[in-house]
Amino acid sequence: MGKEPHNFREFFTLVDPPKKTANKQAVCNFCIKKYTLPVASVNACCYISNKARLCRGHLVKCMIFKDQVSENERIEILARSVPENNKKSTKKQKINEENINIIENESGKYLSSFYNYLIM
Ligand SMILES: [Zn+2]
Repeated sequence: MGKEPHNFREFFTLVDPPKKTANKQAVCNFCIKKYTLPVASVNACCYISNKARLCRGHLVKCMIFKDQVSENERIEILARSVPENNKKSTKKQKINEENINIIENESGKYLSSFYNYLIM
């Protein structure tokens, strides 16, 4: 179709949907590594429609991705732009806020482990 792959495409394997009319399913490569493709492609937690925004949303929540990728790499990947949102600045704004939240959450985690360290 000559469509540019989105920024998160490299982390997903596309499979044909059960219904011909539906969008292709994007199955998370990290989930595939853990569960194998036949299992992951029918597990609603491991696949989404092949949309950059949905793929990013999966990676934000995916614990296997979190386990297998270093913290810095994870932040870099999740900060990648979502092409569908480039046209609408309001949506882009929302994504930026989400990124900030992720980074804040991460530093919050470091802070709390630092406090735990102090207590011990
Ligand atoms: Zn996953």
